[in-house]
Parts: sequence; C-alpha cells; structure tokens
Amino acid sequence: MESTMNATGTATRTAQCACGGLKITITGTPARVYACSCLECQRATGTAFSYRALFTQDAIAYITGDRRTWRRSSDSGRWVEQTFCPTCGTLVYMDGEALSGAVVISVGCFADPGFAAPATLFRAARRHHWYALPDGMRVVD
Ligand SMILES: [Zn+2]
Ligand SMILES: [Zn+2]
Repeated sequence: MESTMNATGTATRTAQCACGGLKITITGTPARVYACSCLECQRATGTAFSYRALFTQDAIAYITGDRRTWRRSSDSGRWVEQTFCPTCGTLVYMDGEALSGAVVISVGCFADPGFAAPATLFRAARRHHWYALPDGMRVVD
C-alpha cells in the first residue's frame, strides 16, 4: 500500500497497474465501495467479480503514465469507459456517463489488503456458485 500525507495533511493513496506504468493518486476516502458480479465485470477483470471504489472527481490528485481507454455501453445503455495500461493491460479505473465525473478505481490496484470491504454486491444472481455472501453485505440482483 502506498499511503502518504501531502502538504495539507490529507491522506493520499495511489493505485497502479501491475507494471507500475499507470498510476492514479487520489485524496480522501471513497464515497462508495462495491463489488459487481455481472458478466461484463467478470470478463473485464478476468475473475469472478469486480471490486471497486468510487471517488468524486475532486479527489483525483493526478494521473501519470501511458493509458488506453475502451468505451462500451452499460446495461442501462449509457457509456462506461475503462482505462488500462497499454503495457501490462491492468484495468486501473473507469468512469461513465452516469457517474457525473466520479472515478471508479479497481481496488486491487491499491495493493492494500486492509481496504474497506464492499458494502454492496451488484448482480448478485450472476455470482459464482461457490461464493457465499458475507454477513451484512447488501445485494442487488
Ligand atoms: Zn502496466
Ligand atoms: Zn458489473
């Protein structure tokens, strides 16, 4: 985990791709932390569900490194844009038409096992059969 204090005493965190080429540094705490087991998230992450933290636009301190984006339509028909490292392919963050400028960061890119747990699992009906829901998790099908 990379967590440091800046000059104003606000905690910052950096999420980065596997090769370290693409980094996004944000301040403060996430507005929402969630997981989603829709089939799009399964394909985009290559695993059973996405685990993401949403930060408001003013939380973004800076973004460095080469990046590529891929835009697709969501279930609701609005665009979602995923940003990934062109070297190692890690999907580091995304934004979308419905997010009003907020950024959604792949929690694994913080490499912080102490990160807040997801409060909600979206598309819970699509989750893999072995995944038992943790106590207290809100589920949305
Ligand atoms: Zn990379
Ligand atoms: Zn999803």
